[in-house]
Amino acid sequence: MNRRQTIPKELRYTFQQFDQDFPTDDACLEQIKEQRFPQGITDCVKCLKSRKHYRVRGRTAYACETCGNHIYPLAGTIFEKSSTPLRIWFHAMYLMGSTRCGISAKQIQRETGVTYKTAWRMFRQIRKLMAEEIQLGGAGGSGVEMDEMYHGGRRKNESGRMLRGDSFQTKTMVHGIVERKGRIVARVGNEFTMLSAGMLVRQYVLPETTVFTDEAAQYTAIPQLKGMDYQHKRINHSQEVYVAGDVHTNTIEGFWSLVKRGIGGVYHSVSAKYLQSYLDEYSFRYNRRDSGNLVFSSILARVSEMASRKPAPEAPKTEVL
Ligand SMILES: [Zn+2]
Repeated sequence: MNRRQTIPKELRYTFQQFDQDFPTDDACLEQIKEQRFPQGITDCVKCLKSRKHYRVRGRTAYACETCGNHIYPLAGTIFEKSSTPLRIWFHAMYLMGSTRCGISAKQIQRETGVTYKTAWRMFRQIRKLMAEEIQLGGAGGSGVEMDEMYHGGRRKNESGRMLRGDSFQTKTMVHGIVERKGRIVARVGNEFTMLSAGMLVRQYVLPETTVFTDEAAQYTAIPQLKGMDYQHKRINHSQEVYVAGDVHTNTIEGFWSLVKRGIGGVYHSVSAKYLQSYLDEYSFRYNRRDSGNLVFSSILARVSEMASRKPAPEAPKTEVL
């Protein structure tokens, strides 16, 4: 099924629209300024009052209308220490948001002319924006599915669970929890134990949720987690009972295959060190899969959300546009 084709017209954001919205570096800077300081209004550290700020020509600064003190909308953002033009950053974010299976640094290198190294670094920064902390499920909902995936190396039986004697050391374990028709959380773990499964479900799943898992013994503690009141339903894969009424883990398995296809087909291989950031990228898009290409706007919003936690602005490297 290709979901992209089902995106309603009003939710599509074509490259042509992107091009119209952000034709220049200045337009991109203006966007970041508006997100952080709407209409240029923010507290001036010299006036100690809320003031309007106007763009300083040729610089990435805006000046206080009264005292002329500069503010820098890019300070504290992922763009701060970069000498890559803002529009190329925006283009990379657009590409990252408009794909379903991921996009390689090679492609952004081809499309924008930056070096491979720069493209790779940009993607790493953009993926940081895509990491989010959310909680799933809740009383009265349709429940969550929890499952685990192994990344890297080869397994003897691709379709089955990890077998005894398989090379555990070469693989990285990933826990996943997904709402049916909803959002996902995927986390790289050190090991798959009753403790790791219990801690993850406690952290990411709201109380009174029904949790669907397979028959793995590591999930048995879920209904006993103090104060959480989880319902636990299990499917017995080893007896080839994959779907029994509402007891199945097909949703999470669909996500795993998307990740595997993407990482295998686009990124070719991903080391354990970076695996979490790729999972963040896939999860971020998956969690907005019905918003069409407006995923780009969500990434853009994260730029200022993540910057606002940082301390007072200073002049960034990209001071001259
Ligand atoms: Zn001032």
